[in-house]
Amino acid sequence: MQGPINVLRPIFNKDRAIELISECLESGWTGMGNKTYEFEKAWSDYTNLPHSHFLSSNTVGLHLALEIPKRALGWDQESQVITTPITFVSTNHSILQAGLTPVFADVDSSLCLDPQSVRERITQNTRAVIYVGIGGNTQNLDEIEDICRENNLFLVLDAAHMAGSRIDRRHVGHGIDVTVFSFQAVKNLPTADSGMICFKSEEYDKYARKLSWLGIDKDTFQRSSNKGSYKWEYDIDELGYKYHGNSIMAAIALAQLEALDKDNSYRRSIYDRYHNNLSGRLNVKLIAHANPSESSRHLIQCVVPNRDEVLLALHEYQIYPGVHYKDNTEFKPYKQWHGSCPNAHSLSHKIISLPCHLGLNFNEVDFVSESLVKTVERWS
Ligand SMILES: *Cc1c(COP(=O)(O)O)cnc(C)c1O
Repeated sequence: MQGPINVLRPIFNKDRAIELISECLESGWTGMGNKTYEFEKAWSDYTNLPHSHFLSSNTVGLHLALEIPKRALGWDQESQVITTPITFVSTNHSILQAGLTPVFADVDSSLCLDPQSVRERITQNTRAVIYVGIGGNTQNLDEIEDICRENNLFLVLDAAHMAGSRIDRRHVGHGIDVTVFSFQAVKNLPTADSGMICFKSEEYDKYARKLSWLGIDKDTFQRSSNKGSYKWEYDIDELGYKYHGNSIMAAIALAQLEALDKDNSYRRSIYDRYHNNLSGRLNVKLIAHANPSESSRHLIQCVVPNRDEVLLALHEYQIYPGVHYKDNTEFKPYKQWHGSCPNAHSLSHKIISLPCHLGLNFNEVDFVSESLVKTVERWS
């Protein structure tokens, strides 16, 4: 085998990206506007979601996803947001950053929120639920949507892994209050750092555009292209943030979007190969996705006994899988909820994310599969 095999590695549509970045540099416009508007339009066309606002990351998007309904509806700090412990910390930090109270619900064997556990956590103070489509999975999402509708809760979809994920041929996010995507360096649509927030409500979308640029009521690009008006005039309605994206990131995103469906289909074929190699192995359980033929397949995860020993042993073969994720209630800011989600806790010590990226060929998938089976069997 040549070289190490890593869990994730981006492959860029380089020539096209350079062409689009050159356009920015030549036009002298690298900030918000120009390519950011172009990409917002392209993303709305691709997903069919009504509003798309380009941001500097998914992390800031998750903050806005809660901050905006909080300000608009007057949620106080007793307001609770039901969330999952199996996620990247951005998801849960957003709740604290918005000055709200996280309440952790447990996951089921899919690593997605368990609807029963969500129901049990609802109180008079519950205002919102955050669902994370881990690895592109949509398991239980429709039931979580029903729960939110029945209980008048605001639903946030953390779609960091879900660029290109569909349900019945419709892109995820349809009908959901707010969906937040990540275009960070190793996600399915990689840039370097950027993200997209897609509110269902037009009013909230406008609010997001204002708060993502410090509370300023219109942006420079609009002003400079709005001849005849007082371009230097603007006002601040309320305190905002510097969260919007820029044209260089949008240029890379436009180039990557052209390849997204093809890339995701290759990821699914990697999953199928692992599935063939590993089915029937009692001690390696691949995590299935609800809509396997339409999943973005950002992650291919399996559950094994003796996870830590297996990971170390795989390093001897220069195979470097990942872990998505550590139970977030083990982190200091969330330790008061430690132990509240036993299923998540136990799974977080058994999961491995197998190498899955566009630079991986089927021989390497076979090599990883064989090495995994060998190392797991050493302890069984
Ligand atoms: C990567 C990730 C984020 C954060 O995305 P950024 O664009 O890096 O801010 C949030 N949630 C999940 C589940 C992620 O994997």
